[in-house]
Amino acid sequence: MNKILAILLVIGLSYTVHAEGVHVNNQAVQACERQTVGETEFKALPYSYDALEPYIDKLTVEIHYSKHHQSYYTKFMAAIKGTEMASMYIEDVFKNVSKYPLAVRNNGGGYYNHMLYWENMKANGGGLPTGRLLSAIQKEFGSFDAFKTQFSDAAKTRFGSGWAWLSVDNNNKLFISSTPNQDNPLMDVVEQKGTPLLVLDVWEHAYYLNYQNKRANYIDAFWKIINWDVVEKRFMKK
Ligand code: MN
Repeated sequence: MNKILAILLVIGLSYTVHAEGVHVNNQAVQACERQTVGETEFKALPYSYDALEPYIDKLTVEIHYSKHHQSYYTKFMAAIKGTEMASMYIEDVFKNVSKYPLAVRNNGGGYYNHMLYWENMKANGGGLPTGRLLSAIQKEFGSFDAFKTQFSDAAKTRFGSGWAWLSVDNNNKLFISSTPNQDNPLMDVVEQKGTPLLVLDVWEHAYYLNYQNKRANYIDAFWKIINWDVVEKRFMKK
């Protein structure tokens, strides 16, 4: 009987220690959310591949995340390995991206932009932002609808591959822009610099399987899956 109690006690103790370990690790992860470039992990998609259907189909999300995004990450890690960039924050690398090899600009941008893109979408998203972000949008663009039109136009008229952005500049002013390839508003190579709040990928690989050449339909669908909570958090953090 004592033996059984002892075994149960050991199992209970090891479970507690294990659970405690997990708890501590989670706290540590939260405490050092800002990783250096060398510590960058390829984050899990925040939802399942089919979560954005019918607006973005399962196969597109799967290929886009597990092939395209993963490949940018792998090539970015290879490009920074053993360099001064490994111990820097990615925002600081982007600030001087013109002085680093083109592989850093293309793959670092590719890694980072896609992370923002996945995070600013969710199932049953869309609607309107709230609070300070909504007021800032209304103040800057006149109305939410005017903002929506201007952002959509930036995405539609980007020639070739690239991205549309809502960002906030150093004077806390919102602006809409678009960038070619994998450039982003944090980079010293772009015309309008700022902190990205909302991003839309308009590379053909982001929509071609479902929408073929109809980029405008993909852009219209994007408004149904925006995760405004995440966009607002980015705005408040700025
Ligand atoms: Mn993409």
